[in-house]
Amino acid sequence: MASHDPPLPKAPPASRRLLARVRDVMAGPGDTESRLRRIVAIIAADMVAEVCSIYVRRAGDILELFATQGLRPEAVHRTVLKVGEGIVGDIAANARPFALADAQAHPNFAYRPETGEEIYRSMMGVPILRDGRVAGVVAVQNRTRRHYTEEEVETLQTVAMVLAEMIAGGGIGGARSDEVRGGGALAAKPHRLAGVRLAPGVGMGTAVLHRPRVALQRMVAEDPAAEHERLRRAAAEMHGALDDLFSAARLGPNDAHRDVLEAYRMIAADAGWFGRIGKAIDGGLTAEAAVQKVQNDIRARLSQFDDPYLRGRVDDFDDLANRLIQHLLGEVSTRRLRALPEDVILIARALGPAELLDYDSSRLRGVVLEEGSATAHVALLANALEIPVVGRTAEALARIEPGDVIVVDGDNAQVMVRPGEDVRKAFGAAIRARAERRAGYVERRDEPAVTRDGVRITVNINAGLLLDMENLHEFGADGVGLYRTEIPFLVRPAFPDVATQRDLYVRILAQAKGKPVVFRTLDVGGDKMAPYWDRSGEENPAMGWRAIRVALGRPAILRQQARALIQAAAGGELRVMFPMIATVAEFEAARTILEREIERERAAGRPLPEPLRVGAMLEVPSLLFELDALLARADFVSVGSNDLLQFLFASDRSAPGLAERYDPLSPLVLKCLGDVVAGAKRAGRPVGLCGEMAGRPLEAMALIGLGFRDLSLSPPAVGPIKDMIRSLDLAALTAFLVNFVPDAGNSRREALRAFAAAHGVAL
Ligand code: PEP
Ligand code: MG
Repeated sequence: MASHDPPLPKAPPASRRLLARVRDVMAGPGDTESRLRRIVAIIAADMVAEVCSIYVRRAGDILELFATQGLRPEAVHRTVLKVGEGIVGDIAANARPFALADAQAHPNFAYRPETGEEIYRSMMGVPILRDGRVAGVVAVQNRTRRHYTEEEVETLQTVAMVLAEMIAGGGIGGARSDEVRGGGALAAKPHRLAGVRLAPGVGMGTAVLHRPRVALQRMVAEDPAAEHERLRRAAAEMHGALDDLFSAARLGPNDAHRDVLEAYRMIAADAGWFGRIGKAIDGGLTAEAAVQKVQNDIRARLSQFDDPYLRGRVDDFDDLANRLIQHLLGEVSTRRLRALPEDVILIARALGPAELLDYDSSRLRGVVLEEGSATAHVALLANALEIPVVGRTAEALARIEPGDVIVVDGDNAQVMVRPGEDVRKAFGAAIRARAERRAGYVERRDEPAVTRDGVRITVNINAGLLLDMENLHEFGADGVGLYRTEIPFLVRPAFPDVATQRDLYVRILAQAKGKPVVFRTLDVGGDKMAPYWDRSGEENPAMGWRAIRVALGRPAILRQQARALIQAAAGGELRVMFPMIATVAEFEAARTILEREIERERAAGRPLPEPLRVGAMLEVPSLLFELDALLARADFVSVGSNDLLQFLFASDRSAPGLAERYDPLSPLVLKCLGDVVAGAKRAGRPVGLCGEMAGRPLEAMALIGLGFRDLSLSPPAVGPIKDMIRSLDLAALTAFLVNFVPDAGNSRREALRAFAAAHGVAL
């Protein structure tokens, strides 16, 4: 715990003096507005400014002047600015302080004649942040040209913390409830919120609003030394509690969540974070207010980046800050877990991984987030725990009341709020049917995937977290056809060394219990950026510096991964494949690096993998034109249809508007894939397919008809695909495909569907 020791208290800085005076006003008589009037006068005097004004954010993104010292009193409640308008609006829009020696020369200066502010030249303002949102702006102005120091900005930020609580406590900020709810009419009506899919599945239950935020009673502290001691104790307690939360008892017998939780724990132990909280305590805040201030700063800073990794880390810090505050206030308990409904739909602005685990996962039917990204820790965990999550649903917290019935449809990225009886019934039936089907798949897991006419199809899973490995056995898959090794890299704040990687691969192989695992080497880059990677701001990241391109450009990365894999195999079988291979030369270069590592291990006298199989992913169309040369060199090929189709049609795989436009069952895709199978047959090399289409029964049927005998799919699809295979008469399908009559349009979907219906194929 040495790294968490707070710095020694220093002499009282300016902010502590000002805070003490603000606290006296808060403790004194009067309503919120009259207190704000006194506070602006105190701030102006203390900071030697002629003007101090407080703007409060109202509904419709309006900033209303609420109190001023120095501007004309009649402007109060009259002067309004839109968020983004003027310098004050800019501060609110960017959640960032602004200090300008010559404010009037700034292009964003918005003059309001009623304020009489034309005589003030310099201006400094900071956002009033609460709950990660801008609740207002506090600004000072000076007649003469003045350069505000960083310390002065910091002081005003500290005061803004206290103002945030006052504004919220006085009920003057935000929208009136009728404004948010559109006159109250929407509150009662069923409606639908659209979002993005963060974890698939469907769930229905009662809304529980996740509001970890506790109202802080005490913001200003007399004795910094005592606050430092409180912080130290609370941090130690929090670490103990996190250890308990993550303990095996809580998470089941395996250590599957380790990748995510280890990264989270590292953030919790971040000495820089604690140092900044200590500094805020020195500024005169209580430990809990200091935690909140630092959190506000982090949120404001990181939220500016449009980067899923950084945004995910904001959620982690939020989670930790809330946790630490609860420890400081002695409010830590399983309070959220008590009196929970049987079926919970959790509604939150954002969630950290530990916050998700605070809720009893056996009751969690779904999660709705106002923010969130697919690579956020909470999304990775929810996927592994099979809890549907819809993210980026604007205003979920404003539109959903505790106790509302909610349906989370992760598959279709939508949330039904207070659905009517019919909709509830329909979803209820669908959810029950799903659960029954799932139980059936688990029951039939030992039945092999053999067609009616006796052809055995290999059904593998795609995995990326250790937790996925459980599904391998639960659904009776044959092995792991694609292990996406990048996920553990993406969730770590630093590049994992060889030993860390090796330990992870050893655990994966142990959990596979002898079933084969194909490790795909790192596919980072593009949109899957790790924090320690060079960021080049590419315009087309999917076609940029990613995957094998990174590995060949910085071979040490591939060398280390290869070494870790070889050592993990410990003399047993090792299957490795390289992603995004565009030319045979790239495959050769990657394979050479792997072989050099083999030689290195041999020289060191360590056991070598036996057998070793080295394959390539076929997901860049250029490689189709070197297929024979590739098949002569690669031990196997796996078609990555997600990327192959994206590049074949030049159609972004994650663009929602394009998803329907190009059908994977179009003649040209079927021809392309059929040619790949024929080439592999000629070369006597195994070929599989591991894109999403392998997990859809109709598409999988077509693939088997084309000659694929090895499919790799997301674990929940294993059951349906095995059922489809067992109901399929492959000879009939092959004959049908030979005499195929294309239907209208550029798709053979309907014709294939008709075949399935006529031949009793279970789709
Ligand atoms: C693919 O591109 O089809 C594939 C399986 O790889 P990923 O989805 O990880 O890019
Ligand atoms: Mg791919």
